Amino acid sequence: MKKVLVVEDNKDNLRLISYALQRGGYEVIAAATGEESLELALREKPFFIIIDINLPGIDGLETTRRIRSSEIDGNIPIIAMTSFAMAGDKERIIAAGVDGYFEKPIDPLTIVERIHAIVGRWTDENSGS
Ligand code: MN
Repeated sequence: MKKVLVVEDNKDNLRLISYALQRGGYEVIAAATGEESLELALREKPFFIIIDINLPGIDGLETTRRIRSSEIDGNIPIIAMTSFAMAGDKERIIAAGVDGYFEKPIDPLTIVERIHAIVGRWTDENSGS
């Protein structure tokens, strides 16, 4: 079973996403802060990471930057979740190094499919050189 990391400080949203991912056949490990997620990502080497942007402590974008510059595989897919959509945010989010992002609220019926669309695209771009 593929292990995936969900970083989310909102318990209800974490439960919703975890349930959807587990139904999709994934083992979910969870972190409530960016700092905690860095440790987990290093230790567990998840298949992909879903990360909330608005977190206590370092936010999801700074966490993403740190993951990208760490010894964790730099190509690990990272998908951000955001509940705000201000002008320039899209560029700011992408510039942090994520592979995609979802706006909240998350639809548990379609989220796994949407993740696969991103992870699949990532795989295609990086395979068969
Ligand atoms: Mn949050």
